[in-house]
Amino acid sequence: MIQTSAGFRGLVQSQRLGSFQSKLGACYNYASGAASSLQHACEPSTYSDGDYADVDWDNLGFGLLPTDYMYRMKCFKDGKFEQGQLSRYGNIELSPSAGVLNYGQGLFEGTKAYRKENGCLLLFRPDQNAIQMKIGAERMCMPSPSIDQFVDAVKQTALANKRWAPPPGKGTLYIRPLLMGTGPVLGLAPAPEYTFLVYASPVGNYFKEGLAPLNLYVEDEYHRASRGGAGCVKTISNYAPVLKAITKAKNRGFSDVLYLDSLNKKYLEEVSSCNIFIVKGNVISTPATNGTILSGVTRKSIIEIAQDLGYEVEERVISVDELVNVDEVFCTGTAVVIAPVGSITYQDKRIEYRTGAYSLSRKLYSTLVGIQMGLIEDKKGWTLEIR
Ligand SMILES: *Cc1c(COP(=O)(O)O)cnc(C)c1O
Repeated sequence: MIQTSAGFRGLVQSQRLGSFQSKLGACYNYASGAASSLQHACEPSTYSDGDYADVDWDNLGFGLLPTDYMYRMKCFKDGKFEQGQLSRYGNIELSPSAGVLNYGQGLFEGTKAYRKENGCLLLFRPDQNAIQMKIGAERMCMPSPSIDQFVDAVKQTALANKRWAPPPGKGTLYIRPLLMGTGPVLGLAPAPEYTFLVYASPVGNYFKEGLAPLNLYVEDEYHRASRGGAGCVKTISNYAPVLKAITKAKNRGFSDVLYLDSLNKKYLEEVSSCNIFIVKGNVISTPATNGTILSGVTRKSIIEIAQDLGYEVEERVISVDELVNVDEVFCTGTAVVIAPVGSITYQDKRIEYRTGAYSLSRKLYSTLVGIQMGLIEDKKGWTLEIR
């Protein structure tokens, strides 16, 4: 096992990355690139599917574990991204006056690859992440990769780092696409050059609670987003401002923060990095997207799954006062998947909710993860098997 991966590395180091990339595509059988004369080096005797990185798979959290490769693609003034390529994972060089460093012109995405029992990797709706990034790029005055370019980059990054994809049931390979203004600017303006970069890290549970219910704190001093702002896109500039609220809540023993709308300080928006749903009887509700919350690939998928299971789903304005009167609350997002909420504290009043084996969130979780892992038939064409 060690020998084969060392052989694989040696091969990569000895080749120019461009030729490595086309060969990787040919070997894994999804890219259309012609097989190069080096194709033999990728055959199973050199790189086997059973090859795993040296990781303690039983103790994965959500910390970064650096992997082997990252993918990079640049866009100059014409607004079109050139052919991207894989390179060794590592630090990148940036101009001190890069738009992303000075004015926060940047977006991120998150998607996951699940390793199936048959050894293949399964991606979940990567095209939806591509669309989410496209919408964000439009808001942030950035060019964005095409959907095909985005999905291809995610596939290449996942496959190149396949040995870091946890065994089935132990976690996932989290894939992080970034879009950044990397060209130099001084006067406030869109950057003259952009970089799309994708890296990956094996992850387990997002919250240290694991699958235990979350205890949320309703924040009414700090806000996440405001009307007309950029709360509806995954721009990096939405996140540093909530660190203060998260830190305050964590210091008081809470798992995360539930934000209210900044205008009325009354209506539910979302949690720091995930969407929120409430359940009352047979009706599931989630805040409607009105410009201040992310529409979320997981949120949209859960709405469809719940409807398919026969539940009524409402996207509407939800007042914080309703929280005293609901059966269940849960959060959704790529990183958290579906996290049950055990309690919400608002103005020093703690409200508790149903969780556990018979909760609706557990049922939705099993269905979603079943599809993502390839254990439940995917009737919607949401998953993409790559090898
Ligand atoms: C990423 C994120 C979500 C979840 O979106 P998914 O597309 O489901 O991963 C929700 N809210 C915020 C603020 C986020 O950053």
